[in-house]
Amino acid sequence: MIPEASVVIIGGGIVGTSVAFNLAKLGVNNISVFEKSYISSGSTGRCGGGIRQQWTSRMNVRLAMRSVKLFRQFKRDVGMDIEYHQGGYLLLAYSDKEMEEFRNNVRMQREEGLDVELLTKEQILKKFPFMNLEEVKGGTWCPTDAHANPQIANIAYAMAIKRMGVDLNTHTSVVGIDIQNGEIVGVQTDKGYVKTNVVVNAAGGFSHEVGLMANVNIPTHSERHQILVTESVNHVLDPMVISFQNNYYVRQTKHGSFIMGQSDKNPAQGNDLGHTVEFLEEMAPKMIHDFPFMKHLHIVRQWSGAYNVSPDAQPIIDEAQNVSRYIFAVGFSGHGFMLAPAVGEAVAEMIVYGHSKTTDISNLGMSRFANKIEKEHNVV
Ligand SMILES: Cc1cc2nc3c(=O)[nH]c(=O)nc-3n(C[C@H](O)[C@H](O)[C@H](O)COP(=O)(O)OP(=O)(O)OC[C@H]3O[C@@H](n4cnc5c(N)ncnc54)[C@H](O)[C@@H]3O)c2cc1C
Repeated sequence: MIPEASVVIIGGGIVGTSVAFNLAKLGVNNISVFEKSYISSGSTGRCGGGIRQQWTSRMNVRLAMRSVKLFRQFKRDVGMDIEYHQGGYLLLAYSDKEMEEFRNNVRMQREEGLDVELLTKEQILKKFPFMNLEEVKGGTWCPTDAHANPQIANIAYAMAIKRMGVDLNTHTSVVGIDIQNGEIVGVQTDKGYVKTNVVVNAAGGFSHEVGLMANVNIPTHSERHQILVTESVNHVLDPMVISFQNNYYVRQTKHGSFIMGQSDKNPAQGNDLGHTVEFLEEMAPKMIHDFPFMKHLHIVRQWSGAYNVSPDAQPIIDEAQNVSRYIFAVGFSGHGFMLAPAVGEAVAEMIVYGHSKTTDISNLGMSRFANKIEKEHNVV
């Protein structure tokens, strides 16, 4: 641990390590990252690895599109193969109303420059003849959506920042933020004190609690989301498939396992994880219905992680009003892995230049909650 840091980042998940990577790339020295456990112990190591640009809010589309650009060159820039696979995303619609919503989404997404199209049921069956689409009306298809291995991506960033000279401290908890006259002067950890004037809250599921350390009331909360993985079989499914109506997402990994999850009807609140038999009982029949070949697949493991949820299901990226240079990148509401490359870049630019240059994230600040919010709908 260094005694004085130019920037302290709280959280060594994909967001914290991406911020550190981008700061170091911009030439910032003496950056400290504190991770209370091991790298990828938080939501990142528990996530589905989906990288999707098909959102209902323009900001999520923009951030995801920028992230896809960065994911495509991740191996070159960050130095590791993260099993990135641009197999597309298929979103299924079940009613005329949902088709109409999808049509509007596609219009907006195409305005943003995304290569996305509306498919009929017949077109979907032609692409994916092994699916049972009895109740499906159609869907949307974006060939540049992707998926990757989130643990490896987090570790890749961690190894890169170490090479770049970042002071990365695992198994070290931040327990307090020292503020004098509205300015940060240091950070207290369970292993010592670090002087600093700039703090980034990238604490994932603990963003609200870390906000309170600086008397900043960030409107986020955490809820449990469950996920499972099957045994591996021959490759058949290229894209991630999502059904909002039937409440699931599913993809096949590079090694042949299927990873899938849903939102529980009443998700447990907080960071107390654990998992339930009900989750398995709900997931299995709907997957076998839509993908009949899964009938003979064995589930090998289930687990859960926290979604850090904001009021409009879009990230909150801002500097605190009452504490100078206290920056937070939180509330990713179940899609922080895919946004992390662009968010890390934007936050680093905020710190170095005073505003984000590459992607304009000015409307992701706290002030938006004073007005009527535009909620992101495409969340499982
Ligand atoms: C089941 C599931 C499936 C998901 N699927 C997807 C998906 O397909 N695509 C996608 O984009 N996103 C997905 N997500 C969401 C994604 O995992 C998160 O949005 C993303 O990982 C958030 O990254 P983070 O770095 O903010 O948080 P985290 O990875 O949780 O990292 C925060 C870190 O901060 C540390 N920390 C907290 N408090 C302190 C402290 N006081 N001191 C030091 N360290 C501290 C924690 O230990 C943690 O490691 C999924 C999430 C879950 C749970």
